Amino acid sequence: MQESIERAARDLLNSRHAILSGAGISTESGIPDFRGPSGIWTRDPAAESRAYRSYERFTTDPKRWWEENLGRPSSLGDLANAMPNAGHYALAELEELGILKCLITQNVDGLHEKAGSWNVVEYHGSLFKLRCMACTARFGAHEFDLEELGRSGKLPPRCPHCGGVLQTDGVSFGEPIPLDVAGRSMAEARRCDVMLICGTSAVVYPFADLPRVARGRRAGGAGVLSVTIVEINAEPTRLTHEGLADYLIQGKTGEVLPQLVERVKQGRRAPGLPDR
Ligand code: NAD
Repeated sequence: MQESIERAARDLLNSRHAILSGAGISTESGIPDFRGPSGIWTRDPAAESRAYRSYERFTTDPKRWWEENLGRPSSLGDLANAMPNAGHYALAELEELGILKCLITQNVDGLHEKAGSWNVVEYHGSLFKLRCMACTARFGAHEFDLEELGRSGKLPPRCPHCGGVLQTDGVSFGEPIPLDVAGRSMAEARRCDVMLICGTSAVVYPFADLPRVARGRRAGGAGVLSVTIVEINAEPTRLTHEGLADYLIQGKTGEVLPQLVERVKQGRRAPGLPDR
């Protein structure tokens, strides 16, 4: 593992536009993933089909959806009191160092921002925000007294800008990715020269297309840079098996990322890490 951490530190130090994407990083903050070995769906496969029905039920009858779901505890646990772990803090530091230019997360728990990351694209939205179905404006969920709207029969909440129906910003299974987020993520994938993929099974689409976009966009291009795709995951994934990742650092993000950042800082202080 040490060798591949050295290699990733070199790749990051030589990069011009490194970006990161991921999901599993929050398990070490006590928030379960869905598809990891102890994931919610791994343990309870029926929960997956229930999740897929939720968006259809919302679009059919948003009022009823809100009435049924308001106050229901999240399957992800107590997100409001969850705290970032060493992996989140390491990534915030990598951004502070000017190396990581953008972080595209699948997580909906807000922990990257809590850790101090600021250029964060929430690919699957945030459970702390509401989004207008009509104009896509986002609002903090705390800006609305949802309990009172429920008591007075005024659900679903309405967009203060256009009057459209508000839904939770967390993207449901089967729901299209909001266009602004999808467009920004594609642009980042097209311009990056290093992509770190932390804790992603690479089976959730269209997110799983991002490494393919990063890799494929340069095929046949003249005089263009290559991209290095580095996976950090507790286990090999589809990206590993298909050879899409250049290499895998197998381990927990909360352990690997702080070591990687430490090595990057050492390389900064004493340039001239040996080439591959
Ligand atoms: P996923 O399919 O990408 O699987 C998670 C991956 O992370 C697995 O490959 C697992 O081996 C790996 N992993 C887990 N913990 C790790 C660790 N500490 N270090 C390294 N690798 C680790 O994602 P998913 O969990 O199946 O979730 C699917 C979608 O559901 C996500 O895209 C997200 O939108 C939502 N979700 C969000 C949260 C959250 O916000 N914290 C949690 C679960 C699910």
